[in-house]
Amino acid sequence: MKVQDKLGKDRFKVRETSHIVVEKQIKDMELAKKLCLACPAGLYSIDAEGNLNFSHLGCLECGTCRLIGLGSQLRSWDYPECDFGVQYRKS
Ligand code: SF4
Repeated sequence: MKVQDKLGKDRFKVRETSHIVVEKQIKDMELAKKLCLACPAGLYSIDAEGNLNFSHLGCLECGTCRLIGLGSQLRSWDYPECDFGVQYRKS
């Protein structure tokens, strides 16, 4: 089974407000590219205007972007409120 198929079994209960706040204006292009490459859910992207786009929908709460970008490109990172976020499923 492919990773995408496994991730497709997960469920998400999301709020409109993101639990991760990202600085849209890129301060460090290398760091922004790392965020795009490292997020296993592919939630970061750089648009044609050179801004960093992010959607919290589909976040796996792995914390990778927190390690890479908190304090620079990420203004804040927190887990979703209790009972919200990803719900992993085995089958
Ligand atoms: Fe992506 Fe993980 Fe950061 Fe969520 S916590 S946005 S899945 S890198």
